Amino acid sequence: MKRKIAILGSTGSIGTQTLDVIRRHRDRFEVVLLSARNSTDLLIRQALEFDAAHVVICDESRYPAVADALQHSGSKVWAGVDSLCELAGMDGVDIVVGAMVGFSGLRPTLAALRAGKVVALANKETLVAAGSVVTRTARENGGVILPVDSEHSAIFQCLLAAGDNPVERIHLTASGGPFRTWERKRIAAATAAQALKHPNWDMGAKVTIDSATMMNKGFEVIEAKWLFDLDPERINVVVHPESVIHSMVEFQDGAVIAQLARPDMREPIAFALAFPERLDIGARRLDFAALGGLSFEAPDRNRFPCLELAYEALRRGGNAPCALNAANEVAVAAYLKDLISFYDIAKIGERALAGLDFVANPSLDDIFATNRATAEIAHGYID
Ligand code: MG
Repeated sequence: MKRKIAILGSTGSIGTQTLDVIRRHRDRFEVVLLSARNSTDLLIRQALEFDAAHVVICDESRYPAVADALQHSGSKVWAGVDSLCELAGMDGVDIVVGAMVGFSGLRPTLAALRAGKVVALANKETLVAAGSVVTRTARENGGVILPVDSEHSAIFQCLLAAGDNPVERIHLTASGGPFRTWERKRIAAATAAQALKHPNWDMGAKVTIDSATMMNKGFEVIEAKWLFDLDPERINVVVHPESVIHSMVEFQDGAVIAQLARPDMREPIAFALAFPERLDIGARRLDFAALGGLSFEAPDRNRFPCLELAYEALRRGGNAPCALNAANEVAVAAYLKDLISFYDIAKIGERALAGLDFVANPSLDDIFATNRATAEIAHGYID
């Protein structure tokens, strides 16, 4: 039986790499749903290549172009995020790949979990903004979240060797991003173009900027809290510039289990899609002798204040991480347009936490309200 795959956000970095894995294993997977925000040309090409039963273009104004191009194909074309939410939970879908960017992925992910689907989640903002709601929805409806984020996939893989032993702590590795060795003054003047040059990973623009500020690592701490039910004190971040160890789990006897691979997002994607099996994805192998050594250092919280902001949001809990995420989305979009400077991203996050209308146990409505209100404040600050 082929696994039937729905990809929320098929034209982005994770979406295209997911399709690359599927392309190599057409005998194991069938694509039943593809969706994009506005990349119509690529979406159409993907629909034709994979003969997707359903295709959703979220930007409704682009529906005619997609429907036109696919009218003689086997694909049914839909428009808008509401359609996406409906289809994400439909019968016949085995795995939903959550590859949308930012808060926009929350509703479709929840729809899939409500329908009891397995969600291969790359869209970490969904857990950052609404971790309690998302994990509760999964629990109550038999939904399962499999991590696609490389660090969390690594932890998941390490935990397979843990048995019933409690986890003492986990170590999330961070590449340190393009500014790891830069002085604060030079980082302050860095442009988005410079921040987009990630040394190890080929990723989308949003997560690449988040990597440069280390907000990405902070969000991954929050993501780890929800995926593995760990308090912030048990989640350590260590900078590891080679990006070969993708994360580690430490036990009470002092033993540490690590997962290693060359940095290639197809590896965690394939692991989630084929779990518990492993697939040949044409990955290059590690050459340890050629590597020579692996290095580690503590993150510099002075040059990368966003990491501490995320820990602070997690310790406060409630809707604080949601507010930080909302502020960060607005700030990163502005930074990408060269409207603000690098450290303004952290400042906007700080303001969002300082001015937060705190809710200890946010409902989904509270999450949407916090997201909206914080985005408005952030826009105001940028103006
Ligand atoms: Mg990651």
